[in-house]
Amino acid sequence: MRHPLLLTILCVFLLNGLWSCQNTQPTESQPVEAPSWAIAIHAGAGAMDRDSSPEAIEAAREALRRAVRLGSGMLEQGSTGLDTVEAVIQVLEDHPRFNAGRGAVFTADGRHELDASIMDGSNLACGAVAGVRTVKNPIRLARRVMEGTRHVLLAGDGAEAFADTQADIVRVAPDYFSTEERRESLERWKQRQASASDIEVENEWKSTVGCVVLDQYGHLAAGTSTGGMTGKRFGRVGDSPIIGAGTFADDRTCAVSSTGTGEEYIRHSVARDISDRMRYLGFDAQTAAQQVIHEVLQPDDGGVIVVGSDGSIALIFNTEGMFRGAADSTGFFGVGIWEEFGE
Ligand code: ASP
Repeated sequence: MRHPLLLTILCVFLLNGLWSCQNTQPTESQPVEAPSWAIAIHAGAGAMDRDSSPEAIEAAREALRRAVRLGSGMLEQGSTGLDTVEAVIQVLEDHPRFNAGRGAVFTADGRHELDASIMDGSNLACGAVAGVRTVKNPIRLARRVMEGTRHVLLAGDGAEAFADTQADIVRVAPDYFSTEERRESLERWKQRQASASDIEVENEWKSTVGCVVLDQYGHLAAGTSTGGMTGKRFGRVGDSPIIGAGTFADDRTCAVSSTGTGEEYIRHSVARDISDRMRYLGFDAQTAAQQVIHEVLQPDDGGVIVVGSDGSIALIFNTEGMFRGAADSTGFFGVGIWEEFGE
């Protein structure tokens, strides 16, 4: 071509189009009409093995569908964003397939330490717990911290002692959280560790859960719950209970829940960065999330789910897959594990 500038513009245009096609399926399918409510969920950015049995894949999809339907039904009937986020995450915490509540991964010393947080976009109220060991539904305790204390984050023994004072917080024996699959992951992790340094050991993180919502009253809410990473040191706290990293909600911008290598999400304040790009640079949810996941983080770090204050939904990841689902008041509904997304 005789005009290098024209060629460059054409290439950028074509590449941009290609990139958008690969990464924007949720908003592409969302109708133009502004939704009165919207919901997105994730259950971790570590996708399952593509060779898994069709039954196992369908079981995971069905668990996602059920969680989205529960949240959609609540929102449709006028539930608040916070109640919806709490209820949906509790269901995911109770499901042994996911790394939150029952099914949480093991620490290096064979225990479970759970983290969770929740945030109200209408007033920036937030609550979180880290390293809890006997709380059946950490998301519920995080909400109690938000509503019943003047603090944001309670950790370890302090969080357990606070739970002792809350009549409606269900307690369980620590082995309630254990599953055979997670025990096997710990064994694999130990074998790898024997031949690598602490830094080199591949992260085995999978299936943290999160939910973000726009309710009928125009308010946003976000929540995240996790067992963390397989083989984490005891006392390690990831991004999930860190407001601005794993969870963020602000009615002026968006609600975000993250999943991936927590240390990177903390380092880059991922959830807050997405909100800030929307607030200060005027980007929509999709653009802001794409930028942070693909340009700030490194490939394989993880993903995010975002609901904008306009009801737009972004489900973005730089891993092979992310368990995810979304719906809104216009009839948009879908779940996905890898690149596919649909009913
Ligand atoms: N972000 C979580 C953590 O680092 C792990 C995950 O998302 O699966 O604790």
